[in-house]
This record gives sequence, C-alpha cells and structure tokens, in this order.
Amino acid sequence: MRRVLPTVEQFVQGIRASDRVLLGRAITLVESTRADHQAMAQEIIARLMELPAPDTFRIGITGSPGVGKSTFIEALGMYLTGRGRRVAVLAIDPSSAVSQGSILGDKTRMEQLSASGMAFIRPSPSGDSLGGVARKTRETILLVEAAGFDTVIIETVGVGQSEYAVHSMTDVFLLLLLPGAGDELQGIKRGIVEMADVLAVNKSDGDRASLAAQARAHYLNATHLLPPKDSGWAPRVLACSAQEGTGIAEVWAALEEYRTTTQTNRYFYENRQKQAAHWFREALELGLAQLFYQHPAVKERYASLEAKVLSGKTSPFAAATELLDIFRK
Ligand code: GDP
Repeated sequence: MRRVLPTVEQFVQGIRASDRVLLGRAITLVESTRADHQAMAQEIIARLMELPAPDTFRIGITGSPGVGKSTFIEALGMYLTGRGRRVAVLAIDPSSAVSQGSILGDKTRMEQLSASGMAFIRPSPSGDSLGGVARKTRETILLVEAAGFDTVIIETVGVGQSEYAVHSMTDVFLLLLLPGAGDELQGIKRGIVEMADVLAVNKSDGDRASLAAQARAHYLNATHLLPPKDSGWAPRVLACSAQEGTGIAEVWAALEEYRTTTQTNRYFYENRQKQAAHWFREALELGLAQLFYQHPAVKERYASLEAKVLSGKTSPFAAATELLDIFRK
C-alpha cells in the first residue's frame, strides 16, 4: 500500500518538531528524481529557510577505507550527544554513484549512535554523478539543521573527488590517518592533506602507539610546510584511538577552537557565503544540463549527431553547436 504524502505544511511542522519519520521522508523527497518530489522538496526547504538560521557546526570527515571513520564518528557522536548536542551523520559515497556496491554502506555501522535519540544517521544518497549526489547531501544538511541537529558530520571516503564536495559544504575538515604510513601508502593525496584543518592519527593504541607518534610527527612537519590558510588557522595534528575512546575529547576541542577562531575572525561566515554562492552555481549548472538533456528535440537528435561525431563526419564542436541551436528554438 502506498503511503499518502504529507502536505508541505505537515512536513515543515514535523521537521521543526524534530519528527524523525517526517525528516526521513523529506530527505527521500530531496533524493528522488521525480519532478513533483523535487518541487515539493524545494518548497519545504524554502519554507524552512524563512525561519531564523540555526546556529550549527558542519564537520567534514575523510580518510582511507579502514582508517576507522565509522568507529571514530560513533565515538565522537556518543561523546557529543552525552554533552547535549544533537548530531546528524550524513555521507557522500562516490561509489554509490557509479556501482551498486558502496564503500561506506556495506557494513552495519555506528550501532550505538544509531540507537541514540540524539542522533540521526542517513546513508549516502545514490545518483549517477558525484555532483548530483553532493547536491542532495547539501540540501539534506538544511533539513537536518532545521530539525534541530546542531552538529552535522559529513563523511566521505578518502579516495577521489568526493573530498572536495564535502569540503565545499562544511565549516571544518578533519582528516583521519593511520599510524606509521605515509600519504602515498594511505592513498591520501597531497591536496587532501592541504585541505585538512585538523588531522588525527587514529588507532593510536597498543602496539601502534609509537607508530602513531611517528605519523603525528611526520604530519606536523608536513603541515608546517604548507602555505597559511585563508582561515588564519594553523592545522592541528593529534592522535586518538576511536576504539578506546582516547583523544576524542582533544579532537573535539581542536574542532571547537577552530570554530571559535574562525567565527571571531569572520572567516566562518564568509566561507558559508562562498559555499552558498558555489552551490547556487552548481544547482544552476545541474538544472541547465537536466533541462537540456530532457528536451524532446535534443533527445531526438542526440544519437544521430553523436554517430556523426563518432564517424568523423562532423566535429564535436559543430555537433554541440547544432544541438544547442535546436534547444534554443
Ligand atoms: P572505516 O572504513 O574508515 O569506516 O573504518 P572502520 O571504522 O570500519 O574501522 C576499520 C577497522 O579498524 C575495524 O575493524 C575497527 O574495529 C578498527 N578500528 C577502528 N578504530 C580503531 C582504533 O582506534 N584502534 C584500533 N586498534 N582499531 C580500530
């Protein structure tokens, strides 16, 4: 049996009252490819944005598979909920865009945190492009914040372009690292280290403690060599054990200090504005591409023009111009 869709008003009231079922269903609308769902999602978000903006903190977390992201997020999440914060955990998993198997979604993750009434965990949306997946997550942030989640953690796996997407929607970026291995071995690209505001060497426990100390020294050195950031913040390098719960409070203290520093020097707010401008453009570009490819005349001509391009009968540019002309008419 199909459930009746609540009205926009019911969604707005429900989300404001932190009703998880309605919040979840609103996110499903954001994630839907149906035009009527999309329109409704936009209406809900527009209504919620008329309200005073909540004071929230958006934290991006990345690191190679196996570094301990879920374990860490669970430990940090439990620490924060224990201190009265309401935590939402979202994810951008690029593998869910290209194949069925997702890197982040396969295991049972964050069981303790999922059971907490103070936390809300949502797996990565799927989609056929990273841009599309990221846009859905960006909109979901607005929904969970409107539902009263003041701390939003956005997780991604440190293997591709998705770190940039997460970076472009969060206030602070945390990179988790493994003890004893250099960037190359961890599959971490230099650009990712440069983006990090806080670096934490996880699994700093048992036999690995001394390797973790070495890794920490290595990354301290590496971050000292980086050019100063626009935020005026010098990256912190810490060690922790998500499994044993050690160093979690210190990582949180560094994140909080980042927030205070950048709110004082205004970078925090300027960065959010810049991000909003970026997402405005992204949304326009995605929307234009959609309009274009769904245009009946474009759809009709596309395959034959592509065939002409493939057989060398016309240049890709001439073919594109022709298709754009068809769209304009
Ligand atoms: P993810 O792939 O980055 O999400 O990593 P997981 O959180 O699934 O952790 C991968 C493995 O590392 C699991 O077997 C965890 O139990 C283990 N692990 C995570 N954090 C720690 C830690 O702080 N110390 C140790 N020794 N093991 C950990």
